[in-house]
Amino acid sequence: RFITLEGGEGVGKTTQLHALAEALRARGLDVVTTREPGGSEGAEAIRRLLLEGGEDRWSAPAEALLFAAARTDHLDKLIRPALLAGQWVISDRFLDSSLAYQGGAGGLGITEVRSINAFGIGDTFPDRTLLLLHPDGAERALARDGDKADRIGGRPGSYHQAVEASFRAIAAAEPERVRLIDAAGNPQEVTARLLAALEDLL
Ligand code: C5P
Ligand code: MG
Repeated sequence: RFITLEGGEGVGKTTQLHALAEALRARGLDVVTTREPGGSEGAEAIRRLLLEGGEDRWSAPAEALLFAAARTDHLDKLIRPALLAGQWVISDRFLDSSLAYQGGAGGLGITEVRSINAFGIGDTFPDRTLLLLHPDGAERALARDGDKADRIGGRPGSYHQAVEASFRAIAAAEPERVRLIDAAGNPQEVTARLLAALEDLL
């Protein structure tokens, strides 16, 4: 099974990725965790091009293509082989991040960004996407932006609000795949919510 975690910055995706993987391993599943941008050697190299150059390094369409190229390598080198070997793959971000960040908030258009990704993705699509939403989401993202080198910083609160609105629109269009998860509360509670949203796949 292919599971993706999505949401803005600072909602706890990375923490939950590891907790969820442990919970699934405890049920006897063979689980691989990964992240985007990155997840394969080439994609990690593209991650550095994207995140270490400052936010004006790339034109918006070029940036979207780099995210798509990284995703393609990640799929070819890591995700598809793992799925073929019968493993569960859980990724910290995937296509929906590009749709929300570059497509929705970035203004390129969700349809356009979906189409530039289609060539690399083919029919490998998440079985379930867990969208983590926090009531203070945009403020958390603002606080996080710029506070690490490995990050695109300097984006206004309105950008982060647009990211969240785009994620919600994507989720509303695909309610079976994308489940909304309340990211507030203690981490164990959030992990329990994530597991509950996967119950039918287990
Ligand atoms: O996952 P994480 O929050 O560490 O994301 C790394 C950086 O890449 C963040 O600044 C995030 O906003 C940005 N990003 C992006 N577009 C994507 C995926 C991530 O701008 N499609
Ligand atoms: Mg993270």
